[in-house]
Amino acid sequence: MRRKVSIFGATGSVGRNTVSLLEAQGGPEAYEVVALSGASNIALLADQARRLRARIAVTSDAGRLEDLRRALEGSGIEAAAGTPALLDAASEPVDWVMSAIVGAAGLAPGMRAVRNGGVLALANKESLVCAGDLLQAACKAHGTALLPVDSEHSAIFQALRGEAPEAVERIVLTASGGPFRDWDPAEMARATPAQARAHPNWDMGERISIDSATMFNKALEVIEAHVLFGVASASIEVLVHPQSIIHSMVGFRDGSIIAQIGPSDMRGAIGFALNWPERRGLPVERLDFAALARLDFAAADQARFPALRLAREVIAAGGLTGAVFNGAKEAALDAFLAGRIGFLDMARLVEHVLGELATDAAATESYGLDDVLTLDSEARARAGAWVVSRSSC
Ligand code: NAD
Ligand code: MG
Repeated sequence: MRRKVSIFGATGSVGRNTVSLLEAQGGPEAYEVVALSGASNIALLADQARRLRARIAVTSDAGRLEDLRRALEGSGIEAAAGTPALLDAASEPVDWVMSAIVGAAGLAPGMRAVRNGGVLALANKESLVCAGDLLQAACKAHGTALLPVDSEHSAIFQALRGEAPEAVERIVLTASGGPFRDWDPAEMARATPAQARAHPNWDMGERISIDSATMFNKALEVIEAHVLFGVASASIEVLVHPQSIIHSMVGFRDGSIIAQIGPSDMRGAIGFALNWPERRGLPVERLDFAALARLDFAAADQARFPALRLAREVIAAGGLTGAVFNGAKEAALDAFLAGRIGFLDMARLVEHVLGELATDAAATESYGLDDVLTLDSEARARAGAWVVSRSSC
């Protein structure tokens, strides 16, 4: 029987890699592709849906339904558009779902998808940061396996296979350091979006690339590791490793360290989640250690990258603080991309919004998805107000 799969965020960087792996592993002969989602790139979404013979293609943009219908004409593939349609598509029963929408927009579809049981391959780290306990509780209730696709967390997951949780002493989360690893703050203050999106090692979507330059991506990943693996913040170390060959490591109480090593190619982590619990051949480069010659390491600099300090504060505060942090970070990134604030202002803005909302967010003990989304909107509104107040003074 063919395995039933859906991909949310199919047209993005992770989504395109997922589609290419499905094709490399037999395509529609091997997989029954139920739903593919995208946003504005209708031509690519329709092309992917035709190639994989998907049943449904859905764009999150309600205004693009006619465009999608036209692009799918004659294919027999159902076209759908808008958030309710996206949620309906996520409710379609499948065995394996890729959650690769970028940002908090991926949370609600992911929460729907876990109700199907099977496997949730989670690239959308924002859903763990905003509402990790809700997502995990839903996975538990529906018997869904949550497999991290973020390369660091896939590495940790792999290093932990067969190990007792109490034997874990620490997690070493590696970070490339991004394009501004060696820049001084004065240069960073003037950095442009084009400079910030030029990631040295990984070919990723624009938003995560800029989040890597601020190290907000690593900040989200510290929270993600804390939520996924139940390890205390103090036992999660961030280590700058410019070559991005060691994807992360787990240190055990006997002093042993298990690292997962591989090329900087997301198809490794995506393929692991796709084929789990087996390992199948993947079309990725094989490492040549002699050619690599050396691997470098350095401590992460929290003074130049305040996002890392803020992540610790978010973990310590608990409750819904992660939703505030992520919402403010997304709004800060939008403002930076729009040229309204500078590169270093992004962390200032997030800190400001946390200062306004964190106390209430931390005190929220029992909550549902709606509370998370409300707080996400509130954080964005506060961030917007800060940007306006700054530009008017
Ligand atoms: P991307 O920007 O390349 O793609 C995002 C996808 O989400 C696209 O399909 C886009 O159409 C869709 N989308 C955008 N806004 C949407 C909205 N409001 N509603 C519904 N769909 C929307 O992003 P990416 O780099 O592929 O990252 C996807 C997720 O995976 C992010 O959470 C990111 O942090 C995570 N991730 C990515 C990488 C990587 O290598 N790119 C690595 C690790 C984790
Ligand atoms: Mg990562």
